[in-house]
Amino acid sequence: MRFLDRIALVTGASRGIGRAIALALAREGADVAVTATSPGGAESTAAAIRALGRRALALPCRVERATDVTATFAAILGELGPVDVLVNNAGVSAPMPLLEMTEQNWDEQMDVNAKSVFLCSQAAVRQMRGAGRGGSIVNIGSIVGQNAIPQTLGYCASKAAVDHMTRVLAIELARHRIRVNCVAPGYIRTELIDGLVNDGKLSLEALERRTPQRRLGSGEDVARAVLYVASEDAGFMTGQVVTVDGGWTAYGYL
Ligand code: NDP
Repeated sequence: MRFLDRIALVTGASRGIGRAIALALAREGADVAVTATSPGGAESTAAAIRALGRRALALPCRVERATDVTATFAAILGELGPVDVLVNNAGVSAPMPLLEMTEQNWDEQMDVNAKSVFLCSQAAVRQMRGAGRGGSIVNIGSIVGQNAIPQTLGYCASKAAVDHMTRVLAIELARHRIRVNCVAPGYIRTELIDGLVNDGKLSLEALERRTPQRRLGSGEDVARAVLYVASEDAGFMTGQVVTVDGGWTAYGYL
């Protein structure tokens, strides 16, 4: 019960990695606010959290919109209390060859994946400082923050930004006892990956072959790393990017 009576917010928790993180936090005692783009979008995750005996709040929030973020944090403060743990998980991936890329494609990925880290972290830090008990921010990056994939300029750039925002925020916030770390997943079997497979942009067989552990990860694989870096077990750890990828980035053979 590493998060007993702590208040957590997980963005993009209607499904996939965000849902797994939200449920893992609740199992360890946290009350959890969960967001998605639509009203009711994260309600099934909230219901599952309540079934675990914890308080939950499902809120609509487009994480790239300042007005949505402000309203979301105000609702959490009113209903649950000040946020102790923020997991910036919401993200989108829209691969496209350079010559077909539009300004909209670039803006969407940079806004949802990177600008949201600025907006949500700022709002969370206001509450953490007000409560005076420190806090923890975990950004969900990606192995593509450091490893290049063709036809993925907007996504790769946004995730590299997340890595470096993690370091800047960590050193800026350390004196307020707020730690900031990033968990960078490899290939995790979620609707995001299934969509790319269905569009012919990824092959599950090729991914499994290329991964030394010969499988894709699960949301729970990522959630375990998130809980570690968010918890006091990692109390002297800040500004780090932790990779969870079954050996993908370590692999350098044929
Ligand atoms: P999914 O597509 O399965 O889920 C994405 C979640 O983000 C949903 O809850 C979705 O809500 C929400 N979301 C999408 N756009 C917005 C927005 N504008 N504002 C708020 N919420 C939004 O993705 P994954 O679970 O696979 O990915 C989660 C995170 O992990 C992302 O940051 C992704 O980049 C990262 N990641 C994933 C990897 C993978 O292999 N799956 C690998 C590396 C990183 P809604 O239901 O309303 O659409």
